[in-house]
Amino acid sequence: MDRTVRLARLREELATQSLDALWVTRPVDVRWLVGFTGSNGRVLVAADAATLFTDGRYEEQSERELTDAGLLDHLDVHIGVTDVGDSVNALLGDRSVGFEADVLTVAAHQDMVDWFASPNLVPTEGIIATLRQVKDPGERQRLEHAAGIADDALASMLDRLVPGVTERAFSLDLDRSMLDLGADALSFETIVAGGPNSALPHAQPSDRPFSDGDLVVIDFGASVDGYGSDMTRTFCVGEPTQRHNDLYDAVAAAQQAGVAAVRDGVEEREIDTVCRTLLTEAGLGEAFIHGTGHGIGLEIHEQPILSSRSVGILRAGLIITVEPGAYLRGFGGVRVEDSVVVTAAGAEPITHAPKGLVPTSGEA
Ligand code: ZN
Ligand code: ZN
Repeated sequence: MDRTVRLARLREELATQSLDALWVTRPVDVRWLVGFTGSNGRVLVAADAATLFTDGRYEEQSERELTDAGLLDHLDVHIGVTDVGDSVNALLGDRSVGFEADVLTVAAHQDMVDWFASPNLVPTEGIIATLRQVKDPGERQRLEHAAGIADDALASMLDRLVPGVTERAFSLDLDRSMLDLGADALSFETIVAGGPNSALPHAQPSDRPFSDGDLVVIDFGASVDGYGSDMTRTFCVGEPTQRHNDLYDAVAAAQQAGVAAVRDGVEEREIDTVCRTLLTEAGLGEAFIHGTGHGIGLEIHEQPILSSRSVGILRAGLIITVEPGAYLRGFGGVRVEDSVVVTAAGAEPITHAPKGLVPTSGEA
């Protein structure tokens, strides 16, 4: 992925905010911006120059990763911690520099005060997080690859949704399947929650075996080159009853309507409203106890966060989840989640595993 475009987008944004530079310290933001994945990396970006600050452990790695990112001619590298101030001030002088107020620790801010001669250290929030929302083709390709791995891994597990298999055994085998199929890692700790546990949106897999009549919520994702997919399916072990079907159908209808509402230019809040209205009409408003979705990318929860408090507008190129759920204590829960690309025409799903309470492998 060519990072020169990202540097250019950041510089445009800095100009709009009348900032001369930005001090980027959050590792995932550094990775997104310049491709450096080391644990110690900070980037100072001004209109006319940029420097990556790291230490001797990462000399070789930074050179390789900056080369891969196409940035070797666009970025200086400062190795070591002794004369950071000299490099900073040679680049910046007394021009203004933004820092990430929602990220920087008090100690890291004190470092800035010690190093920067500029009298103008300006608190900012979410500049990089906002730029990260819209995915470029390389990012989309990685997320689609990851989502495809997760689809295939789930398909290989459907015959294990039977009485006696424990949540933990199921989740370990699902994880292993994703890694076998080429995932670098898991997006997050897989959720496999059966029976009453499925009523907890963020249950951890336990040693409880599945039994007939269990709803099983499976929320998981594969990670490829740092980009993690996210999908939830809910199944029933054995024959679903009317109550299972009614709960499932209400959530599935809300999820489908939410996805159908996704389009470039739509208010983020609207997706939440569509899902919440349908579930409320089905008598499940109180049972829908979380937000409706979020962006995915280098982090599993990125902006935008879709909830009743969202204030943004969906834009083409965002990749977001739509994941309403309903949870009935003691009985069980249902959540259905897809990840979709926002386009001018609507939503293009990147998760394709078949839905329905009774597991089917669906089309290949
Ligand atoms: Zn999820
Ligand atoms: Zn999610």
